[in-house]
Amino acid sequence: MLSTKMYKTIFILCLSFFAVLAKHEFYDGHTLYNIVVKDVQQAELVNELGYQIPIDIWTYAKPGQPGQILVSKEDKQQFLDALHDAGVAYSILTENIRESLELEEERLAAAAKQKNERSTFGLDFETIHRYEVVDAYLEELGTRFPHYVRVESAGRSVQGRDIKYLKISTSHFQNDTKPVVMLQSLLHAREWITLPSTLYAIEKLVIDVTERDLVDNIDWIIMPIVNPDGYEWSHTDTRFWRKNRRVGLLPGDTCVGVDLNRNFDAFWGTASSSNVCSDTYHGPSAFSEPETINIREILRPYMSRLALYIDIHSHGSMILYGFGNGQLPPNGLILHVVGVAMAQAIDEVKWAEKPNYVVGNIVAILYRASGGSSDWAQLAGASLAYTYELPSYRGQSGLNGFLVDPDFIEQAAYETWEGLKAGARQAATAFYRQIAEK
Ligand SMILES: [Zn+2]
Repeated sequence: MLSTKMYKTIFILCLSFFAVLAKHEFYDGHTLYNIVVKDVQQAELVNELGYQIPIDIWTYAKPGQPGQILVSKEDKQQFLDALHDAGVAYSILTENIRESLELEEERLAAAAKQKNERSTFGLDFETIHRYEVVDAYLEELGTRFPHYVRVESAGRSVQGRDIKYLKISTSHFQNDTKPVVMLQSLLHAREWITLPSTLYAIEKLVIDVTERDLVDNIDWIIMPIVNPDGYEWSHTDTRFWRKNRRVGLLPGDTCVGVDLNRNFDAFWGTASSSNVCSDTYHGPSAFSEPETINIREILRPYMSRLALYIDIHSHGSMILYGFGNGQLPPNGLILHVVGVAMAQAIDEVKWAEKPNYVVGNIVAILYRASGGSSDWAQLAGASLAYTYELPSYRGQSGLNGFLVDPDFIEQAAYETWEGLKAGARQAATAFYRQIAEK
């Protein structure tokens, strides 16, 4: 006979099983489409659909580059009718995305269970770590490596989470003649694959240092979870959540959240949405959100020596630079040259079946966008500022887009680090050359 304790255990197991099922219910029947456009007119038409139907554009379609769009059961007919009318070709990538969500959850949970015990201190790259785990890890790093790691708090998120970041420096940031490199991830909540890349950078700069010059010559600022509220929400409730968790924007909180990557003071409000319900809602004003103010404030003392700023997103295998209005920064050529060097470093070690990285001005490569963090950094004084779009993964499991397959986590982190290193070295060399010329 089963004991009361066992009944209780079974009951709890059943509850958690149904909680998992219920969690992804919202996405039941959502279909992920692959959209192929013939020309710019078709591309614009598809992108305009985003303003008329509440579709979720994962990647924008361009001639020669298919787009991915997630559409709910309710909106499918209207969406497909519009595509037919415009003669736009499409195919189905994932019929019911809920099944992929359940698969992702299962695979990540299994990977977390099976992971090998690490022989060294640090977080593994088998799974995607939650806010609390990362937060505790950063604290631990500060305690274990006090001679060159400082863990600091940038401030609180909308919901009051402490946003920590690391300052890694052999001179405690006291040497003004050293270049500063800033790395950040998870400005967009659902882009989970970006977190391991900043954690990997931390590992290679603090725990497993194999390239001493990177630590000796550069001061690093690394913020792994810029948007912790949105990130946690994407774990607990809505997997494809992109914005922060600002409430009170509309009476009754009908729609929640500001797109933090449209909230920086860079051509604010000119190519973003003023619709609170939109995924690219820019907020009531530039820097209206604590999460964006945090970035501005922690960089303020170091702007004059900010040699490189990189905001890591997913997905699309791209390295983008400003500006989001189509104008090139005065150092556009250098931005391109260093961008290509970073892309080449990644391409050299990427999996053969993955596309090469594409480098360019964001409007030329993707779309117009205002209020972006890397545009702001470039305008505010960073020598070089970029947005990375990490690759998506579509292996045996079929997990795609923002969905993470554990098989790809370490590779994504490792190859991104190759690009970041190449960029940091070039930025540092240019910085020291400038100092020598003064
Ligand atoms: Zn993003």
